[in-house]
This record gives sequence, C-alpha cells and structure tokens, in this order.
Amino acid sequence: MIGPELERANIAWAQAGIRVVMMGAPIVEADALRGADGVLLLGDGWLDQAPDPMIAGADELAAALTIGQVATPDVLEVVYAGPIGPQPAPQNVSARTFGLTSIPLVHAGLPANVENDTIVFMAPGTPITFRALAHEIGHALTNRADTFFTRYLIFPRSPAEPLMPDTTVNVMRRLLHDTENQARTQRDSACLICPGNLLLTP
Ligand SMILES: [Zn+2]
Repeated sequence: MIGPELERANIAWAQAGIRVVMMGAPIVEADALRGADGVLLLGDGWLDQAPDPMIAGADELAAALTIGQVATPDVLEVVYAGPIGPQPAPQNVSARTFGLTSIPLVHAGLPANVENDTIVFMAPGTPITFRALAHEIGHALTNRADTFFTRYLIFPRSPAEPLMPDTTVNVMRRLLHDTENQARTQRDSACLICPGNLLLTP
C-alpha cells in the first residue's frame, strides 16, 4: 500500500513543486504503539480521535509522545496503525477516517523534544483512490486543519463533503494556490500555531 500511496502523493504535490521520498525501508513494530488506554493501536486497537480537530486526542498524544522520542522535526513520520475513531466505523466506507495527522498546531504542552514533530497515522484498508496520504501530507506541510469551506480538493477538504475517489475525473485534482504557498513556508520552530513546516529541504 505504501508505494501506490506515495505515488499518488507525488502526483498531488508536484503542483506545488514538492516531492515526497521515503527514507529507508518501512520499520515494522507490531507491539510498539499503545493508546492512552494501553490498548495496542495495531490489530483491533483503535486510535481514538478528538471531536475537535484543533485539539489532540489522548491516543494521538500518547502515540506522538512515544514516536516523538525517535522522531525529528525535519522528517515526517508516517505510521500505519489501527483503525481511527470514532468507533464503530461508519458503514459507508467513504465516511470513515483514513488518516490523522498530529501537527505542531495541536502540540502545545508537549515536551520540547516532541512538540515540533509531525506524525501521520494511516488507518488500514484505505482505498488508494482516496489519496489519504496526499491529504495528510497537506496537514503536515501547512500545519492547518481541514476547512468547512473547501470542496473536493485533495487538501484541504470539507469534512462535511462525501469523499470522492480520484478516478472521478473532475474531483481530487488540484490544490489551492494559497495552500501551495503555505506548504512551501518554513515555519518558525518557536511558533507552533503558525502555518508552514520544518520538513522541506532543498
Ligand atoms: Zn484532513
């Protein structure tokens, strides 16, 4: 799944002149990640999501603290973990949560060695046509949540809109010009709420 997701992420972000590369081989740590409740996030453990995208959930913070011990602000950590809440998963596949990005915007109060890290959590079984990784990379690059005022864009997109596959020729195609600019902005590491990132290198 990683290869095709990466390929689509590069199609999406080429518009902004941004290339996504994987560093090394995937690391498999079946038992390493536990949520705030102590339940494994892999397998049938759930990564519970806070209802407000401006607030990090307890599971997200617990996982970010663990991964943050080895992560650095200039590398995006992508974790293929368990399903992402709310539980139970909606019957409609396109209404499920396929990814969650823990961005500095919601990291106020975390230790200094962790607060500038950015971690993407990918749920299992995501159809690649939804371009979930490309979308989550949008959160990572801009340090911004989704908006209720944008329709059918890879990033941002309105959480209220039904998700459409990129095989539908008139959706999931472009980024806003403003989004491109935010994604290419180097963020001041002292400003957790500012747009931009510490991930891009020449
Ligand atoms: Zn999103």
